[in-house]
Amino acid sequence: MSETVTKTNLLGLSLPKLQAYFVSMDEKPFRAVQVMKWIHQRGVTDFDAMTDISKSLRDKLKTNAEIRLPNVVQEYLSSDGCYKWIVQVASGSRVETVYIPEAGRATLCISSQAGCTLDCSFCATGKQGFNSNLTTAEIIGQLWWANHRLNGFAEPRAGAGKSNRAVSNIVMMGMGEPLLNFDNVMDALHLMMEDNAYGLSKRRVTVSTAGVVPAIDRMKDYTDASLAISLHAPNDELRNQIVPVNKKYPIRELLRSVKDYMASLPDKRVPVVEYTLIAGVNDHRQHARELAALLKDFPCKINLIPFNPFEQSDYRRPSNSSVNTFREILQQADYTVTVRTTRGDDIGAACGQLVGEVADQTKRSARYRKAAELSAANRLDVHNVV
Ligand code: SAH
Repeated sequence: MSETVTKTNLLGLSLPKLQAYFVSMDEKPFRAVQVMKWIHQRGVTDFDAMTDISKSLRDKLKTNAEIRLPNVVQEYLSSDGCYKWIVQVASGSRVETVYIPEAGRATLCISSQAGCTLDCSFCATGKQGFNSNLTTAEIIGQLWWANHRLNGFAEPRAGAGKSNRAVSNIVMMGMGEPLLNFDNVMDALHLMMEDNAYGLSKRRVTVSTAGVVPAIDRMKDYTDASLAISLHAPNDELRNQIVPVNKKYPIRELLRSVKDYMASLPDKRVPVVEYTLIAGVNDHRQHARELAALLKDFPCKINLIPFNPFEQSDYRRPSNSSVNTFREILQQADYTVTVRTTRGDDIGAACGQLVGEVADQTKRSARYRKAAELSAANRLDVHNVV
């Protein structure tokens, strides 16, 4: 009778965990650094290619361990150079990763969950319901893949600075709420910033959250990554409607927890406040003035994101002139404001358009499908009458 050994996947182990793994195998902890460099700096997944490791240890690793990547099942290339990869995870669901090249930098937008439990009214992922948390290997595997696909593991050319990396910046702004998959996301952040792995600067790795306050409070004990918060409204009444988690953790508590986190960092950095502008919902001049007043004692940068439409939503993107008016009101109040350019929308890769394929464990996706069918039927009736 053959015995099946469950192999440990080394891809998702942070340095302390990889060291503990080698110690548990009666090996020296420095082996962890060697193996980590092979995996995350040279993109090697075959133990036999790890030439600074003895044959006997390689054999032992082959028996007990593996380097297993999530499966990339499809690739889309946008006319503006963005890539979108569809990644199949162990639960069977599919998530999406987006690569956004820009002058002087290249950003990877990584997913942390298959679906999302939060149901923000303007986000396509929320309409899919929720299936599962991604493992650390499935999260870091998206960065490994981008480097592999875009030649990022090749020996760096002489004089090539960090800005020439295949991936120079990470945003945890793909599918899911990163802080509701806390432990796995923290380990993945560690690998992104660990010198023996990807070595990205803490200023270039950003966690984006809809505002899970107790998790923001815990973050300082685990990471010093940069932080973005999805605010989207200047008062609780409106925010309750579009970001329902606000009913649990209202704006005042959210701003308090972010302030505490920023104060815990060893260097001076400010959070990014993300504000998706939805026509007729939160884009009025009065909202801009209210936002300026709300953030008076909250040092931050503001990133305005004109709403990106998707099938199941009746929301509309505001006109350029109302986006500009909103921006100007904030700038006159001395805020640093950027407007996020829409990238990759011809391949459904823009902010809020990521859907993947989620085997929903909640009833939400069916409910939304039904509502969309009803609303389509109603539109048809109106049309017929006219
Ligand atoms: N759950 C996390 C990470 C998801 S990224 C969070 O909420 O921050 C979410 C970002 O994508 C949000 O800041 C939001 O501004 C943006 N977004 C979501 N849906 C969008 C849409 N339809 N159009 C434009 N931006 C959207």
